[in-house]
Amino acid sequence: MTAAISPILKTDLFINNEWRPSSTGARFEVINPATEEVIAEVAEASPDDVDAAVKAAKACFESDAWRSLSARQRGALLYRAADLLEERLEEMCRLETLHNGKPLFESKIDVEMTIETLRYYAGWADKIAGNTIPVDGPFFTYTLREPVGVVAAIVPWNFPLNLASWKFAPALAAGCTVVLKPASETPLTALAMADIMQQAGFPPGAFNVVCGGGSTVGAQLVRHPGVDKIAFTGSTAVGKEIMREAASTLKRVTLELGGKSPNIIFADADLKAAVRGAHNGIFYGKGEVCAAGSRLLVERSVHDQVVEELAERARKLVPGDPFDKNTRLGPVVSKKQQEIVLSYIEAGKKEAKLIAGGNPAKVNGKGYYVEATIFDDARPGMKIVDEEIFGPVLAVLTFDDVEEGIELANRTMYGLAAGIWTRDIQKAHRVARAIKAGTVWINTYNFYDAAAPFGGYKQSGFGRELGREALEAYTEVKTVWVGLK
Ligand code: NAP
Ligand code: MG
Repeated sequence: MTAAISPILKTDLFINNEWRPSSTGARFEVINPATEEVIAEVAEASPDDVDAAVKAAKACFESDAWRSLSARQRGALLYRAADLLEERLEEMCRLETLHNGKPLFESKIDVEMTIETLRYYAGWADKIAGNTIPVDGPFFTYTLREPVGVVAAIVPWNFPLNLASWKFAPALAAGCTVVLKPASETPLTALAMADIMQQAGFPPGAFNVVCGGGSTVGAQLVRHPGVDKIAFTGSTAVGKEIMREAASTLKRVTLELGGKSPNIIFADADLKAAVRGAHNGIFYGKGEVCAAGSRLLVERSVHDQVVEELAERARKLVPGDPFDKNTRLGPVVSKKQQEIVLSYIEAGKKEAKLIAGGNPAKVNGKGYYVEATIFDDARPGMKIVDEEIFGPVLAVLTFDDVEEGIELANRTMYGLAAGIWTRDIQKAHRVARAIKAGTVWINTYNFYDAAAPFGGYKQSGFGRELGREALEAYTEVKTVWVGLK
């Protein structure tokens, strides 16, 4: 069954460059959300397995095999991993779509960005440098940038492999070692990646993958004294829990959390482009995108036109088999997620005006699909406006002038991203500065690049991934003083 599903499918834990079943023999099921069928039974790490993975990462971190590698050699391993992943691109994309449900073309964008991210940080490995400091007195003073140690990377199910690479690529480039815990819904591409990392030549313990629940495996990693840093992407609620738990061992923590990002359409925008951007901003990735433009803010004078065109587009966005090349809306990741999204839709029906979608759907009689859904007449204070839904559900709010637009945009506990649509460049830059968010897109939405830092303001977390900025989270600065007299 295994090979029939995918030649790169792995279902055991990857610890110290060895494939191992759980020490208890336990396994959990991974479901295809498009067919509701079991794809695989993956080993569920026991506390002993998690401990073994952390110890392997620690031993590697302190080993000659890892320490004696030059920065350039570490970079070469990452380049090799990127090449191997590229060779298996098609297979990896299929696996990502199988457990996540995203259309195949989206998986391709994800895996291609993973390759880019590996190459980008491969290039950084031998460019992570300290400074010489012109201090007062007869001293030669300089800084070293040293790897922080063992990194536990805990990731969600929406961009399973890509978001993992945003963590393990800079971590390994900086000289850290990694224990990766994928989300229970989507462990398969992380495990396939482990196979690639081993083939690329990473020594035992440099890269480990342990699967299992967040409250067990994840929580143990957060408490484990052998882990030096937690790199987490997920919900704000779990992020807060991790920060509390990490306090007892004073681990370094970076948190990429939720969002309720405003996408603001001004009356002077190229409305065609803005409507397309608003549509893709919420419906790409089934809305299971941390930076989804889930609050659409429209200036009153263009409201009717924008909303009409959006609703028409949404009605045409028919849920489909994610393996069909024409599909633009796959199933949400799980039955549980479908229930959460539908409960928000029910709340929305009581508070606002439903103008598109609003129902669950099936394709060929199966699957956890949700129609592309739009609510108009939404206002702050409503559940669908204030809370992250993480599904294909858009709330449309109306504003009268720039100041009100900015005020509404910032009226949220989150601050991950925002979109601005206008032809007025002064307005665009003024609003970009006024918005409290880690990323602002002007006349575009949902673009990412390995070189462009990404992360949150406010309760969307702290620390940055991607770009040069991400490397800071994986290094410590050591200051060395040399007396010259
Ligand atoms: P989640 O429930 O927070 O889970 C994320 C990861 O943390 C999973 O691997 C999960 O394991 C694990 N986990 C859960 N409880 C834990 C605990 N107590 N200690 C340690 N680890 C724990 O989030 P999700 O439901 O998977 O994903 C959706 C959320 O992620 C949304 O809120 C979204 O906004 C956010 N997100 C943010 C970004 C960003 O870059 N800012 C990107 C993507 C997603 P299990 O699921 O296996 O139990
Ligand atoms: Mg969860």
